Amino acid sequence: MTGTIEPRVTPPRMEYCTRCVYPAASAAAIVFDEEGVCSGCRTHEEQATVDWAAREEMFRDLCDDYRSPDGSNYDCLIPVSGGKDSFYQIHLLTQVYGMNPLLVTYGENNHTEVGMRNIQRMRDVFGCDHYHFTASVEALKKLNRAGLKKMGDPDMHAHMGINAVPVQIAVKFNISLVIWGEHGFMNMGGMHSYKDMVEYTAKYRVEHLLRGYDWFDFVGVEGLEEKDLLWAKYPTDDEIERVDVRGVFISNFFGWNQAEHTQTMIDTYGFETNPIPFDRTYARDSNLNNIHDNGVHDYMKYVKFGYGRVTDHACRDIRNGILTRAEGVELVRQFDHVVPGDITRWLDYVGMNRNAFEAIADEFRDPRVWVQNEYGDWIKDNIWDHN
Ligand SMILES: [Zn+2]
Repeated sequence: MTGTIEPRVTPPRMEYCTRCVYPAASAAAIVFDEEGVCSGCRTHEEQATVDWAAREEMFRDLCDDYRSPDGSNYDCLIPVSGGKDSFYQIHLLTQVYGMNPLLVTYGENNHTEVGMRNIQRMRDVFGCDHYHFTASVEALKKLNRAGLKKMGDPDMHAHMGINAVPVQIAVKFNISLVIWGEHGFMNMGGMHSYKDMVEYTAKYRVEHLLRGYDWFDFVGVEGLEEKDLLWAKYPTDDEIERVDVRGVFISNFFGWNQAEHTQTMIDTYGFETNPIPFDRTYARDSNLNNIHDNGVHDYMKYVKFGYGRVTDHACRDIRNGILTRAEGVELVRQFDHVVPGDITRWLDYVGMNRNAFEAIADEFRDPRVWVQNEYGDWIKDNIWDHN
């Protein structure tokens, strides 16, 4: 129609936590209260009211209940990536509580050099038995593609492996106690309260950690067969009951201050952070194992939800008083949109071209976040425009 001016496309307006930098369209379930403070910040606040001495006593009793009386078996199993939280967990269990754990790693392939050095250091300094499982590289390449196409998550295989292999090994070795690290949905998003003492269950695994998908959903995708996914099968209810496997989160028993823990692990055991800056976040202490974890994997999170790991890191550091909110907002502005340099390597690894990748990625853009403007560019609301 002549004479009318097309309205400019504006993205949906997003609500952000008034205390940290989480948006309402968060990957982990999050709600805001009447003050505009998110559930993750409120749960973090609870830490000041928890009787940590009583929790520590509970943990000591737990260790005593499960410790092998005659040393004929492992006392517990710890799923470990070789990261800072793994070091902290092993440190507590072996040095403070005198437990003999079996360590289990789901190896993601594409290890970084610093990640491998930390895994070797973990073996050297703690002297524990260590199971390091790696699936067939051919199957992993297919799963990278399948995860991207089905869920917009090339790293889906890692969620599947981390949440199956250690529990399979627990059943195989008759180990009843599995010590998980942080409960991410609780500690970051505030899905539960510290009062709930949430434990690891098969239901939590599928509904939250695997977002409703399981290994069988990938049979027939990208040529994957059941035989490629045996490692991703969770033990049956009968197997879990026979061994009486119980999974607890260590963050329910000890105040979780990652910055403090990381520094202690560096000083005590020589844990290494990433020697060079990452493309997509300022933090150098997290997700060091896989070349693509802080790269293309995290970039897909940004494409889907409109924010990436720098937002998670800024929220963590704001809550712990390391950053102000304004500093957090600036870091989000600096890093969240960056297209990572490892994308070329990843495309080569899985055999996909850039256009195909972009087309698949665009299918997963959350309509609560993204809209295409009059030039065809994807645009979204930004936190720095809100202040
Ligand atoms: Zn918040």
